[in-house]
Amino acid sequence: MSKNSLAVIGGGVIGLAVARRALLDGLSVRVHRTTTWGASWVAGGMLTPHSEGWPGEEQLLAVGLESLRLWHAGFLDGLPADVVTARESLVVGVDRADATDLRTVADWLSAQGHPVTVTTTARDTEPLLAQGIRHGFLATDELAVDNRKLVAALEAHCEQLGVQWAAPVERLDDARDGVDAVVIANGIDAPALWPGLPVRPVKGEVLRLRWRRGCMPVPQRVVRARVHGRSVYLVPRADGVVVGATQYEHGRDTAPSVAGVRELLDDACEVMPALGEYELAECAAGLRPMTPDNMPIVGRLDERTLVATGHGRSGFLLAPWTAQRIAAELMGAHA
Ligand SMILES: Cc1cc2nc3c(=O)[nH]c(=O)nc-3n(C[C@H](O)[C@H](O)[C@H](O)COP(=O)(O)OP(=O)(O)OC[C@H]3O[C@@H](n4cnc5c(N)ncnc54)[C@H](O)[C@@H]3O)c2cc1C
Repeated sequence: MSKNSLAVIGGGVIGLAVARRALLDGLSVRVHRTTTWGASWVAGGMLTPHSEGWPGEEQLLAVGLESLRLWHAGFLDGLPADVVTARESLVVGVDRADATDLRTVADWLSAQGHPVTVTTTARDTEPLLAQGIRHGFLATDELAVDNRKLVAALEAHCEQLGVQWAAPVERLDDARDGVDAVVIANGIDAPALWPGLPVRPVKGEVLRLRWRRGCMPVPQRVVRARVHGRSVYLVPRADGVVVGATQYEHGRDTAPSVAGVRELLDDACEVMPALGEYELAECAAGLRPMTPDNMPIVGRLDERTLVATGHGRSGFLLAPWTAQRIAAELMGAHA
């Protein structure tokens, strides 16, 4: 490969976002990928830094908000419009304690300088909510994407820009051949290439519910809910809703469990009873690449090696920010 050439290991949302940005910046890029999309295949696709925020995660909030700005400011250029499935989030609490929790989050967001619109008439905004759900807040600039369409669109855009696809690698050295730099972007498998990276798999189950004739229509915005202390979210798709997600440590197990699926169905139907008529089209589980402090690991490891992993529950949200950070590192190196 020519000078200013890059190999990216991993063809999930992070590897593809990094590769596309490098191609747009004029580098020649080779992506080593497998035949599966890892966590990117399973994800809900929410780009929701406010509504996922939690006191104590100020740094993650700041990075998430910056990345959401980048989604609005050009990351979608070159991608089909239908990758975006929602342009607003509504966060609601089911019982009094849930509503109090949300008030805490809303106050914290305000204190951070990012106020949200508090409401006590949530059903006026989203009539499909169960009777009695009133309290919550709206985050009016949050987005959701169809994760599978997005990854396919990033692949197609990379192809248009001249990417070279290559086989997965077992060792880092296998990717170094003929390139100036390598980016490790293979999610939970990054420690196999660079031992010591503090990334571990955290299991999450999601359901895909499909709209059927005669059912109530698909909601138009992301709905996140606290349900008696648990969290559930409903993310619109063209043909239905993604319901997510459980979160627990179970090694590399990707079998959806009965208990996980039941919990999601119970909570989803408590928030939006009309979903009970939808078709249960898919149950899946994926492995989030989590770090000890929930912050991604993005930067330089040595002169020829960069890393972009550890995006935990926010890899889609943080893809533009990650691509920009890696591009800045590469520019610095080639300046
Ligand atoms: C249930 C669930 C719901 C989620 N919901 C959201 C959400 O709503 N919003 C959000 O922003 N994020 C969400 N996430 C998180 C998001 O999916 C991840 O953070 C993101 O997919 C990480 O992207 P990645 O490219 O680093 O890893 P992955 O998507 O796991 O991709 C890594 C790729 O590298 C490949 N690979 C592994 N080893 C090698 C090798 N040696 N050589 C070549 N390739 C290799 C893998 O096969 C895979 O294709 C969710 C995750 C889960 C599990």
